Amino acid sequence: MKVIISHDIDHITAFEHMHDLILPKFFMRSSLETLLGTISWNEYNHRFQIFLKNKWHNLEELMAFDKTHSIPSTFFVGVAHGRGLRYSLQDAAFWIDRILREGFEAGVHGIVDDNYELLADEHKRFKDITGLAQFGIRMHYLKTCHETMGFLDKAGYMFDTSLFTFSAPFKAGNLWEFPLHIMDGYIMCNKRRWQNQTLCQAKDNTKIILDGLNKIKLKYITILFHDCYFSDSFSTWKEWYVWVVDYLKINKVVFISYADAVRELNSNDE
Ligand SMILES: [Zn+2]
Repeated sequence: MKVIISHDIDHITAFEHMHDLILPKFFMRSSLETLLGTISWNEYNHRFQIFLKNKWHNLEELMAFDKTHSIPSTFFVGVAHGRGLRYSLQDAAFWIDRILREGFEAGVHGIVDDNYELLADEHKRFKDITGLAQFGIRMHYLKTCHETMGFLDKAGYMFDTSLFTFSAPFKAGNLWEFPLHIMDGYIMCNKRRWQNQTLCQAKDNTKIILDGLNKIKLKYITILFHDCYFSDSFSTWKEWYVWVVDYLKINKVVFISYADAVRELNSNDE
């Protein structure tokens, strides 16, 4: 079993959300989680502090952690606005450069799934920023329609990893689709929009999923953890990610990047 870890960048600053509903929803959700007892007053207070500091990413911290643990992760960065993703192209370009300089891979956090011209614009914008010839994509909120795979292939993406299904990678034209198997939000917020799981429950559910994936003998397992949760504001989420990496290392899995997995799959094809 090889494991591919990736991170979606949904926010960079808090103030980029001054004109949408993300901030009120964030504080409503945090208040509810405090009342339910799934987060502590410390976490609630920390969330208020990071809002005041206007820092809603944890990219440096997560890159340092992944580097220490030799995780060749891929960071998906948005280059268009939509569905609550609102950071500037300038901020995106700054962080893409930092990610690539740190030796990690970067891809597009896609916004448009149903309009070929706009979808291809995102591909071109990312290509212009990075100078990369080949890269992949994950759609924001995993949003796809029946035309998305064909559009992504036509636009020139190397891979997509937006379909949430327990299956092996497959090819759609020249595009490799890597189904997503484990996502932080689905683990921590079981069928809800707020955290309703303890760390213990999150670990147990993750073990059940990993055992299930092992039973069907998938060669590549994909895990998504959002950088915004690698913070003391979301201590259960952060502890879960640290535990997942440790658990996988104890179980002697091999960590691989999407791009290297594509190269392996293509060489098997020949
Ligand atoms: Zn997203």
